[in-house]
Amino acid sequence: MLVNAKEMLTKAKAGKYAVGQFNINNLEWTKAILETAQELRSPVILGVSAGAGKYMCGFKTVAAMVDAMVDSLAITVPVALHLDHGTYEDCYKCIDAGFSSIMFDGSHYPIEENIAKTKELIDVCAQKGLSLEAEVGSIGGEEDGVVGMGECADPNECKMIADLGVTMLAAGIGNIHGKYPENWAGLSFETLDAIQQKTGDMPLVLHGGTGIPADMIRKAISLGVAKINVNTECQIAFAEAVRKYIEEGKDLQGKGFDPRKLLAPGSQAIKDTVKEKMELFGSVGKA
Ligand SMILES: [Zn+2]
Repeated sequence: MLVNAKEMLTKAKAGKYAVGQFNINNLEWTKAILETAQELRSPVILGVSAGAGKYMCGFKTVAAMVDAMVDSLAITVPVALHLDHGTYEDCYKCIDAGFSSIMFDGSHYPIEENIAKTKELIDVCAQKGLSLEAEVGSIGGEEDGVVGMGECADPNECKMIADLGVTMLAAGIGNIHGKYPENWAGLSFETLDAIQQKTGDMPLVLHGGTGIPADMIRKAISLGVAKINVNTECQIAFAEAVRKYIEEGKDLQGKGFDPRKLLAPGSQAIKDTVKEKMELFGSVGKA
C-alpha cells in the first residue's frame, strides 16, 4: 500500500537523514528502485514528472502499476508515489489517479496566485490524506537554458509558504536540474541555514541531486534537507550500462536480444545508483 510522505520525512528531519526521491520512467525503473529500497530497509519516494506520466500512458496507469508492484513484490518499507513539478491541473489528475503525494510547482504564478492555489490544494490533500510539496523560487536547469548559479529563494517567502501548511518545501539554494556546469558555484549554505531558521521543523527538499558532491549533500542534510531528488543520475547509469552491453556485442550472442537480458545491466545500474544514494543520504535501515 502506498503512503504519503509526511511521516517518513518528519522522521528523516528529526533523525538528520534524507529520503531519496527517485524518478521512474517505466516498469524496470520502478522495480529496480522498489527492490533496492526493500533490500536496504529504506523508505522511498517514487517521483513522476508530467512527461514520464505521459510516456507511461497517463497517471492512472502509473498509479495502478506501482500499487500492484508494491503488492506483488511484497514491499513492506514505506513507499510514496509523488507527482514531480506538477501543474495545477496535473495535481488534480494525480489526486484522482491514486497518487499519495504531489508537488505543486506554482513558482511561475504571481505570488498571490501561487498562494491561493497552494492553499486550495493543501485542503484537498488534507481531506484525501496526501502530502504536498511546494516550491519557492524557481530551480533552474538545462530545459530552461539556465547555466551557472541556480536561483536562491527568499527565506521570508519560504516561511510564508511553509505556514500555509505544506508537508515539505523545495527552495532554491543554488541547485539546478540536470548535469551541473563546470563553473557551478556550489550550494548556498547561508541561504539554506536562513531558510531552516525561519521554517523550523519543515522538511526541506533538495532538487537536482545529480552531481552534487557528497560532502555538500551531508552538509545540506545537517541543515534540514530531508528529501533529495535524484533523476538524471539513474538515467546516465542506465544508458551507460545498456550501451556497454550492446557495444560488447552481447545482444548478438545467443538470446542476448531478449529485452529481459538487454535491459538487465541497465536495471542493475539503477539499483547500484539508488543504493549508493540511500547510503549517502543515511536512509538505510530506517524502515
Ligand atoms: Zn525538481
